[in-house]
Amino acid sequence: MVGGLINLSVLSKLKMYGIRVTDIASQYWCEKQMELRHLYVEKVKRTEEMKSGEMLHQELEEEANIEIELEPKGYADYIYKTLYMGYLGMTNLPNNKHTREVQVYGSLGAFRLSGKIDEIRLKDNELYIYEDKTRQKDELPNDSQKRTHIVQLLIYRKMIDDIRSGAYSAERFTRDYSTKSLRMTPEFVRQFEVLGIDGGMQTIDSIADKFFDSISSVKGVSDTLQVRYINQFNRKEIGTYKFTYDEKEVQNVSDFVLKYWTGAREALPVPSEEKWKCRYCSFFGKECKVWWPQNGLQG
Ligand code: SF4
Repeated sequence: MVGGLINLSVLSKLKMYGIRVTDIASQYWCEKQMELRHLYVEKVKRTEEMKSGEMLHQELEEEANIEIELEPKGYADYIYKTLYMGYLGMTNLPNNKHTREVQVYGSLGAFRLSGKIDEIRLKDNELYIYEDKTRQKDELPNDSQKRTHIVQLLIYRKMIDDIRSGAYSAERFTRDYSTKSLRMTPEFVRQFEVLGIDGGMQTIDSIADKFFDSISSVKGVSDTLQVRYINQFNRKEIGTYKFTYDEKEVQNVSDFVLKYWTGAREALPVPSEEKWKCRYCSFFGKECKVWWPQNGLQG
């Protein structure tokens, strides 16, 4: 960054408007792979594991969340619906005790940041944040995989803290997403009356206020963060990894990943001791030859 301005060159190279929490987590698996996935979107195939994970998330969301027939027709409609669903989930926590797939917004340095929290639970007036990961076998992941899950939860927790402290406000959100210039479609707006959505929350800015308030109004947030590992075939929980939130760790993560996003360094490939990851990478030997055998990969 120069003179406080955002260096948008990395984002524009990747055709992105902001950073996603899953991008940050992926930087801890292989930053270069994360970059290549954005550069070659058309080559990224959805694996069976990914499809199964998405199905499980959808099933759990249907079980946990109130079903709302609000059909978005365009980008502005989608933004409204996401905020509205988040608001409903959060305000119903005292009754339902949990809500799923909560889209949250924030910032990392000068960049806008977004992500979807798998589950938020309310216990003793405190929010608990959960991440669910599906597994093909009844085995817990290795440390490298676990690290990406930990990073994901650390960032979610920081985003919740930032909303609660006002470091990231509804007002900032409306600026970041230029909501004043967004127009919802008339077909979408007509559904508000049918659903009985209050007149005071029928604009994107008003629902953004309500959603941010719904997060700020809870008494506290637990420092315990949890990743649940679930067998993708029988849906049984394999195990849960619990750890404690650490602000210093979040700062270290932020410092490390921002060096890439600000263009201070190129995307890093995996280090030599982790080149085993390349065998599972679809860019290996094609778009990425860092550890290709001819370049010295042994075995
Ligand atoms: S081949 Fe290896 S170093 Fe290159 S992007 Fe894939 S995992 Fe990263």
